[in-house]
Amino acid sequence: MTVRAGVLALQGDFREHAAALERAGAEAVLVRTPGGLEGLDALVLPGGESTTIGKLADRFGLVGPLRDAIAGGLPTLGTCAGMIFLARATTGPPQVQLGVLDVVVERNAFGRQVDSFETDVVMEGFDDPVHAVFIRAPWIAEIGPDVEVLAEVDGHPVAVRQGRILATSFHPELTGDGRIPTLLLAMAVEG
Ligand code: GLN
Repeated sequence: MTVRAGVLALQGDFREHAAALERAGAEAVLVRTPGGLEGLDALVLPGGESTTIGKLADRFGLVGPLRDAIAGGLPTLGTCAGMIFLARATTGPPQVQLGVLDVVVERNAFGRQVDSFETDVVMEGFDDPVHAVFIRAPWIAEIGPDVEVLAEVDGHPVAVRQGRILATSFHPELTGDGRIPTLLLAMAVEG
């Protein structure tokens, strides 16, 4: 089966995600309307600017439909801003969030001096480390009981899974490593 994977295409690096999904064997579709969520087997919420993504999702009437689709079991990957958008809260001022992932995120947590960096991260379920690109990345400050930590940097969770929701602080779509998109597609095939 070819997995039909939607990528929320309001702002951010959705094109890179679409390309990574196609490399992993999926049919990628850009989602900009509630109707665009129909018939999807998987969904990606890209990196970018989470406040902008939240505002645009609100304006386009996507917040409720996204929440319902993801809470209803649609396999979903959120990266960086996408992870923030999935989460239930941030440590900062309120912003539009889906609240389907039971974590509290700290935005731009790695500090301004190290705005962006790359490092190899050991990740649960993978034999070899993942080369992880962090760009003004969040980390997870609080974690709910149903959330499994898949990877940490300096003792802070940077990759998690809750049921069919996967979230990373880093950007797997920016490296050639197809293991994370493949993991998402495998969740879609498992049903
Ligand atoms: N700093 C951004 C935010 O807080 C996330 C950055 C990213 O997605 N690379 O929304």
